[in-house]
Amino acid sequence: MSAPRHPSPPSADGRLLIDLSDMSAPNTEVAGSLPIEIFDLEPGGPRPLSPLHYRLHVHHQEDQLTVTGELSADFSFECVRCLEPFTDRITLDGYFIEQELDGKTLSVDLTDSVREDMLLALPDHPRCEEASLHPRVCSAATMFTGASQHSLDHSEETSTRSDSQDLWGALDQLKLQVPAPSPENSRRNR
Ligand SMILES: [Zn+2]
Repeated sequence: MSAPRHPSPPSADGRLLIDLSDMSAPNTEVAGSLPIEIFDLEPGGPRPLSPLHYRLHVHHQEDQLTVTGELSADFSFECVRCLEPFTDRITLDGYFIEQELDGKTLSVDLTDSVREDMLLALPDHPRCEEASLHPRVCSAATMFTGASQHSLDHSEETSTRSDSQDLWGALDQLKLQVPAPSPENSRRNR
């Protein structure tokens, strides 16, 4: 087994700093993690369960810094359907940032950038059965039947289309029977 690679730790005080003064080669790999505290999320939403892990390729050429790589962290979410908490690992493998440098730049702080990109990768409507880490059968899956299923599951659309057409037909019939509001009624509402 080979020992894990530890290129000179780029983080200081829990930040991800790319030290340009120390960068002799144009290409460098940096890997590590940022402390869980950097997420600083509002209570009631996703809750971080792990540090933010990063594995980045840094390309440095004259006045241009290009960073690409992968970010990942574990979070606790509340499923939007069953409202039960579940854990998932969010992996962002397309992290990319390009930064102009002037000749005097000695280091670049990527902490806020990786944090923001990680948070943007969080699902808006987390569902426990879609978790990549421990997917499970959502306990609310059987509760969503009938009409409410149409908006949630498009694959059901074709099989239930005739039902919904009947429904609209019935609604049209209903409309014909409802008398138009009389001027008297609208006056009374004022
Ligand atoms: Zn669920």
